[in-house]
Formats: sequence, C-alpha cells, structure tokens
Amino acid sequence: MSHAFDVIVAGGGPAGLTLANELGLRGVRCVVLDQKESTTPAPQANATQARTMEHFRRLGFASEIRALGLPPDYPTDVAYLTRFSGHELARFRMPARARTDAIARSSVSGGAWSTPEMPHRCSQLFIEPVIRRNAEKYPSVSVRFSTRMLDFVDHGTHVSVRVEPVAGGPIETLEAAWLVGCDGSRSPIRYALGIEMAGEGKIERDFLGGRMYAAYFASSDLYQHLKADRAWMYWTINRGRRSLMAAIDGKETFVFHTQLSAEESAETIDAERGQALFEQAMGARCDFRLIHGAIWHAGYMLVAQSYGRGRVVLAGDAAHLFTPTGGLGYNTAVDDVANLGWKLAGAVQGWGGAGLIDSYRTERRPIGLRNTSRARAFADSIGGYVPSESIEADGPAGEAARAHAGDYLLDHARREFNIPGITFGVRYDGSAIVTGDGSPPPEDVINDYRPNAIPGGRTPHLWLANGESLYDHLGIGFTLLRIDAAADTTRWQAAADKIGCPLKILDLSANGCAAEAATLYGAALALIRPDQHVAWRGDDAQAARTILARACGHA
Ligand SMILES: Cc1cc2nc3c(=O)[nH]c(=O)nc-3n(C[C@H](O)[C@H](O)[C@H](O)COP(=O)(O)OP(=O)(O)OC[C@H]3O[C@@H](n4cnc5c(N)ncnc54)[C@H](O)[C@@H]3O)c2cc1C
Repeated sequence: MSHAFDVIVAGGGPAGLTLANELGLRGVRCVVLDQKESTTPAPQANATQARTMEHFRRLGFASEIRALGLPPDYPTDVAYLTRFSGHELARFRMPARARTDAIARSSVSGGAWSTPEMPHRCSQLFIEPVIRRNAEKYPSVSVRFSTRMLDFVDHGTHVSVRVEPVAGGPIETLEAAWLVGCDGSRSPIRYALGIEMAGEGKIERDFLGGRMYAAYFASSDLYQHLKADRAWMYWTINRGRRSLMAAIDGKETFVFHTQLSAEESAETIDAERGQALFEQAMGARCDFRLIHGAIWHAGYMLVAQSYGRGRVVLAGDAAHLFTPTGGLGYNTAVDDVANLGWKLAGAVQGWGGAGLIDSYRTERRPIGLRNTSRARAFADSIGGYVPSESIEADGPAGEAARAHAGDYLLDHARREFNIPGITFGVRYDGSAIVTGDGSPPPEDVINDYRPNAIPGGRTPHLWLANGESLYDHLGIGFTLLRIDAAADTTRWQAAADKIGCPLKILDLSANGCAAEAATLYGAALALIRPDQHVAWRGDDAQAARTILARACGHA
C-alpha cells in the first residue's frame, strides 16, 4: 500500500526533530507534527552529553551546536554557594568550549574520554532550532508546527492519524507505515495505547522532589552581585531557599529553578513572586526581568511498560521521565531515536526483518530503566542533602559547616558531572540483533569508561593517522571494519547485496592505525551498526550472511 509518508512523528521536541534527521538522512519520507507554534520557548535541558554530540556529529551539525550558548572562553564550572551572592562552598571545574576540541583531539584511544566530541553546555532553547533547520533541509522531511494530532488508528498494515491546525481549519487524515510518539511526558499516544508508566512518580525531597518553579530571566547586573567567579551552573545550599541557576548566554540571561511549597500554586507565581523567590536565593536585590515562567515536577523515575505496540513506537519523554539531575532526559531521548531511525529505514526500505522494530523496544527500555535510576541517585544525593543550620553563620561554626559541606558537594559533583560511563556505556547485550562472542560485558560504572569492542556496546573511537575521526568515516548504513589486511570481506559484500542493506567496507589495516585498531577491537573484522554500536566482531567470514541477516532483524 502506498502512502504519502513512511513515518509520522508526533512531537517536534528533541526526540522528534532528531528522528526526522535520522530519517531524512536515509531518504525516508516523514512528517513531524507539533502543536506548539515553534521550538521550545523555555531553556529546559542545559547539558548535551558527549554521546549526544557524537550523534549530532554523525548527522552533520555538531559544530553548529558547539558554536551556541556560552561565550567561547566562559568556564562551564559547577559552583555551590550558600546564596548566589554568598560564600562559595565547592567548585567542580570544567573547560570552556574553546578548549573542548583540543581536549578531544588529544584524547587517547582506550581512555575514558576517547571521543571526537566532548560534552557541551548549552540550552535546549538554542539547540532545537538547529535540529529543526537541519531536518528541514531533507527533501523527504516535512515539519509542521501549529498542527495538533487528534487521534490515530493502527490498521495492522499501516496507521492513519487525524490532525488539525491549532488555529482552526479542516481536519486532515494522514497515512503512513509507522507512527512514532515523540509527544512528550503526557504522551497522548502512550495514553491511547493504554501503556502505563512504571517506577516511582512522586519521590519527595527537600529539593528536586515536588513542584518546581522555572524562571527564564534577564538581568543586567546579576554578575556584579556574584562574588564567585563565572560558572555555568550555580546551586544554593542553605536551609531557606535551595535552588539552581544556569547561565544561558553568559551575558545577561539565566534560568532559575526552585522548589515550591504546598501553598504555592501556578496562580500565585506571577513575575513578582518569581522575583521574590529568586531574591531569597540570591541573597541580594538585582535586576530581574522574567522572560518565561513555568511550573514543572521533579521526582519522577518512570519508564513506560512497553516502548510501543504494533505499528506505533514511543521515544523520548513519552517513554521515560526523569528528574533532570545528571542531565539525562533529553540525552536519553536523542539516543533513543539514534537507535530507532535506521531501523525504521530498514523496515520501510524492505531490508529490515520482522524483528528490527521490536529490537528497538527491547534494546532501549533497559536503557530507560538504567538512566532513570542513575538520575534518581544523583537527585537523592544533592536534593536530599541537608546542610548544617550554621552554613551561613559568621565565625568558626559557620566556617566549619561550610568546609564540611564543601567536601560533600565536591564529591557529589565529581559523580554527577563526570559521567563517561553513563554516556558511553550504553550496551545492548543479549539483543536478538547482536551476535555476541562469549566475552562477558564490562561492568557498568558511572564515572569511568574503558572502550571495548565486545558486541553490543558503542564502537571504540580512534583518531586515524591523518587526524580524522574514525566516526566520520563510518557509513550511514552498516560498516564492516577490516582491521587485519588478510581478512576476506567479499562474503560480506555479497551478503549485503543479497539482503539489500547498505554496507560500507572501511579498511583500517592500511591507514597507519592498524595496530591501535587491532588492540581496541581484538579481532580481524568488526561489523558496526548505523547507530555506531558493535553488531559482531571476529575473524570468520563464513558466517557473514547469518550475522548480517540477524543484525537486520531477520530471524
Ligand atoms: C525545567 C526542565 C529542565 C530540564 N533539564 C534537563 C537537563 O538538564 N538535561 C536533560 O537531559 N533534560 C532536561 N530536561 C528534560 C528535557 O527537556 C526533556 O527530556 C526533553 O525535552 C524531551 O524531549 P522529547 O522530544 O521527548 O519531548 P518534548 O521536548 O516534551 O517534546 C514533545 C512535543 O510533543 C508535542 N505534542 C504533545 N502532544 C501533541 C499533540 N497531540 N499534537 C502535536 N504535538 C504534540 C509537544 O508540543 C512537544 O513539543 C528538563 C526539562 C525541564 C522541564
């Protein structure tokens, strides 16, 4: 059956817009629907993890994203203060973006931060328009904001979706082979499918466990009131007004988050009340011009019971809800669709087997569980921390309380803000489309990461002899790395031709990094999936057809 679209994507947040890039890159016809007028008007996520930057690099716009946000030389430190204008308790130092490229280039293969892309501290506010603009460059992608999805029907052979313009107008019915619900935390699609969220929905804490107020604001003189050096993120640690604030442009815009008491409601939080809450945290008066205020809920650790059913798939916040500690919500959303995009392409282009979309559901749900539990532990550690009553006092008691808090907070910051293990350590062990080699998976640790090519994990990165990143040479389909010059690849090409799947053969044996690649990969050949996870490694070309068919979701 022929439809105008192969895939309908409901929701144009980071998940939906990144998925549109994944699909557009592969020539898949898709439409993205979003009821908002345009991309987010609020800062929301402020941390783009290294793995997300690697995905943006693969999609061709990492450097555009890297240029956004704080000025090039602005430090991305995290500072803990009694009040924003008060005592500094601890500081976790992180590099300004002007230095991240040099740091990545000097990374050694086999190291924890072996990547072409270090993390980037920049608001979702600036990132979404770039993802959108890049999606719209693809002729097969159509992005429709101000368009509401009303409902859908899964016909078994295809889906139909009723949509209407938000401003009013005729209802239209769209048809496609697949529907993806990237429709956010309240996901009407998940609700219509009757898929429940499992986990904990109302974790209570003194801070980051309850209703939160978020103020995106401008201030001409805030920096003059800070005694502390510039930082990307500032947290207040006291007994009266816990909060956090992130610098948005490094000049005059900020986002401030604080927890609301039971008595406060959305109606009571106008600009004046928002300013009063901010001044409690600031410990001083300064210029405060509210740009956007919102109420949100912290204390979720929820994952959908299933990531979809039939021809409907869920991704992003529609599938998992976080407390934003660790900065994992939006990053997990992008990693979801990096896994899903190529599988949808396989399904609509005919080379994907019946198990390919199912493998998205079974591979990514455990990652939702893993990442939400990590975020929860970070939120418990910082949100549940109760400082001494003397934390703001003058004299020896105050100094001792601050020194004690400083030790705790620095230790916490090292755990929350240096997380190569979380960002690079995503693995799909036991997946039906991965061919293991009997090696036990490495331990999943938060703050360390040892690259390895055990099938299921992220393919180890290395800089090629000409200074280019291995990742820039991987294909948009599968890539067969030839590490040993003697390894035969002809059967692989023949298998790919038979199945019809895209395969690039990349010879690492002849470009000056063969020894390094052999150490990292521990095999003569390695099959890399389009999402840069290792599907198989070994020396045996005989099994090419079986391994490739399995990686494409054929039983
Ligand atoms: C205050 C705050 C701070 C955060 N900080 C961080 C952080 O530091 N790090 C981090 O990783 N994450 C953070 N997050 C979470 C992050 O913003 C989300 O995880 C991310 O936006 C999820 O992306 P998404 O595309 O899945 O969903 P969303 O961005 O929510 O997009 C869903 C879209 O679906 C659309 N939609 C819904 N229903 C319909 C319909 N019927 N028809 C058409 N369109 C529809 C909505 O308009 C929306 O645009 C934060 C969130 C908040 C609120």
